[in-house]
Amino acid sequence: MCGIFAYFGPKDNAGELVLEGLKKLEYRGYDSWGIVCKNEDGETIIEKHVGKISDANELRPELTEKPSHIAIGHSRWATHGGVTEANAHPHTTENMDVTIVHNGILENYLELRKELQEKGHKFTSETDTEVFAHLIEENIDKGLEEAFKLALEKAEGRYALLAITKDENKIVAARRGSPLIVGINKENKEYFIASDIPAFLKHTNNVMYLDDEQMVVLNDGVKFFDLKTDQPIEKRIVEIEWDEQSAEKGNFEYFMLKEITEQKETLARAINQDDDLIREVAQAINGAFGTYIIGCGTAGKVGMVGTYLFSHIAKKHINFMFGSEFGSFLPFMTDKSLMIAISQSGETADTLEAIEEAKKKGVKIVSIVNVESSTMARISDIVIPIKAGPEKAVASTKATTSQIAILELLAYACAGKLDEGKKLLVETASQINDMLNPRYEQYIRKLAEKIKDVESMYIIGKDLNYPMALEAAIKLQEVSYIHAEGFAGGELKHGPIALISEGTPCIALIANDHTKQETLSNAIEVKARGGYIIGVSPQNNENFDFWIKVPDAGMASPIISIIPIQILAYQLAILRENNPDMPRNLAKSVTVK
Ligand code: GLU
Repeated sequence: MCGIFAYFGPKDNAGELVLEGLKKLEYRGYDSWGIVCKNEDGETIIEKHVGKISDANELRPELTEKPSHIAIGHSRWATHGGVTEANAHPHTTENMDVTIVHNGILENYLELRKELQEKGHKFTSETDTEVFAHLIEENIDKGLEEAFKLALEKAEGRYALLAITKDENKIVAARRGSPLIVGINKENKEYFIASDIPAFLKHTNNVMYLDDEQMVVLNDGVKFFDLKTDQPIEKRIVEIEWDEQSAEKGNFEYFMLKEITEQKETLARAINQDDDLIREVAQAINGAFGTYIIGCGTAGKVGMVGTYLFSHIAKKHINFMFGSEFGSFLPFMTDKSLMIAISQSGETADTLEAIEEAKKKGVKIVSIVNVESSTMARISDIVIPIKAGPEKAVASTKATTSQIAILELLAYACAGKLDEGKKLLVETASQINDMLNPRYEQYIRKLAEKIKDVESMYIIGKDLNYPMALEAAIKLQEVSYIHAEGFAGGELKHGPIALISEGTPCIALIANDHTKQETLSNAIEVKARGGYIIGVSPQNNENFDFWIKVPDAGMASPIISIIPIQILAYQLAILRENNPDMPRNLAKSVTVK
């Protein structure tokens, strides 16, 4: 959560460059924002606001009237302390000696705050973050680098932390568990630090990765240090392939619709994997004494689909756990266990923690990620990239279907039928191409108009489409804010059917397979109680009040069923005047626990 962007270089409008860069990170946190500029006279000037950074057109004149070559910005996703201007970052000390921004949670902030208050430090916010500023100030006479290191020695928890001082022309930054990447434009002698690469792609596609427990210092050049050994580290410059265009909205009003539409190409890209890599992972699954898929939120629902795919296709039992629940199962992990971690960002804190714990037990880690430069990718033994390109809307769409496609490939490869799996997915990708057109979107919009004011809706599915019913509910909740719940169709009669009243929408995900008749019967049971039945199915049925036609995709049915729901969720958000890219209370990549 939270976006961080910093500039250090010869241009004299650092504040404006940070404002522009920070806007590209708004999807990471958007309850408030702030920027600190250091001008040529050595003054540090802060501007902070509650609200979205996209609403800001320019900075206050004090931040721009004098040339400034150093600036840091932050868009917040509050964890400690309400959404107020005082709690927005940057945070500074009483006489503005030290100014910082922070992503993460300082777990021992209460005791540190108390100690610092006893020493006379005055706090102006309720955040955990502000403690860092005062901790650094404690030793600032030793210079920023040293004071920064000493402060980190006392910190428990996760952080991406950046600091500047009044007296030194440098930016110091470090990370533990929260993302931070250094961008470098050698020609212009410019440096950037950001939470995510697309933020500085306009200026450079050359990056240097900061790893956990490492610190970077920008002044006349760039220097990296290992925080544990205090030794300098040599870093490679890596060239990134993403272009700026793919990280922008193009002709679309919102990223969410752009990303839904991109599934025409992203699925094809996901399938186009190195066969040897897929076979290598399949072999590891076949040889493991227990394989555990781990994910959170949507990636979790994808993981659940995986258990069904492996059962049907490879006749294999694969386990699934949410990242946050994995710890309970650690006692039986061994060096023969295999973990498959799924995450779009590769920075999901709960999943990262599960990986760290599993690694201590010798578990082999395979990760399925979109951001190949992420922490997860770097700490895994094997990485399968989904190649979906930047996903910016908070509600995941294209990454979801690509992650499912990878699990399909793995299941087929485990059964020794990779070619058969690829053929099915290639056909599915071409069917998606036919589905994702404005006519289809308009048709689903009619449904959205009809149900936009309901209080609740339910989604049912069986087998492969049961986890998709859960995912459908997440999608609808995230952007429409309508109460939505997914169930296994057969479970409905054991309780939830009591919630159905006249006109309650119930979406039935009905694949054309052995589950068809049973799910249809469940839908009919709902209809008998006055429910409004929306069938998502290759065939129409007289019991449907509204039919959304989807291709008959066999084992790829979860990919096909979720796309119309993504469109429905988007249309409901628009009709209810919600911003689908930035749903309330949520942020992309959940980097806090
Ligand atoms: N814990 C800090 C706060 O609540 C940082 C949150 C963030 O990562 O945006 O201000």
